[in-house]
Amino acid sequence: MSVVKGRCICGGVEFSVEGPLRRIVYCHCKMCRRTSGHFVAATACTLPQLTISNSDRLRWYQSSASARRGFCDRCGSNLFWQPAGGTHVSIMAGAIDDPTSLSGAMHIFVADKGDYYSLDDGLPQYEQDAPNDALPLPPLSAPFR
Ligand SMILES: [Zn+2]
Ligand SMILES: [Zn+2]
Repeated sequence: MSVVKGRCICGGVEFSVEGPLRRIVYCHCKMCRRTSGHFVAATACTLPQLTISNSDRLRWYQSSASARRGFCDRCGSNLFWQPAGGTHVSIMAGAIDDPTSLSGAMHIFVADKGDYYSLDDGLPQYEQDAPNDALPLPPLSAPFR
């Protein structure tokens, strides 16, 4: 089983994930745009796949009734997004060590996207959240290599 590693800028939060990882979902909702400074590019895994080996600086912000966001309280890196009661956690793709071998799957909440960029990568775009069967969550994704 392949293992990928990731961390925040300062190393106060470190984690590893046993594959497979979901392909990247780009979220353009206003909360993702505010928290990331642009838009979020996130992979995802089931909860048992994720090991947080250093949680010294990990803090969670309940950004809505339905989800919380994990970040480093020292360097400010955005790391995780976790739906309440869900079975998976989203991981900000930029936090994962290169090479990730991940590829993009879709754009969601495009209705909220900023007016200062365009989307022309040919991936599917959803005005709001994607239908459940459109999300390539593990184990439906191709095996992570
Ligand atoms: Zn940090
Ligand atoms: Zn979002």
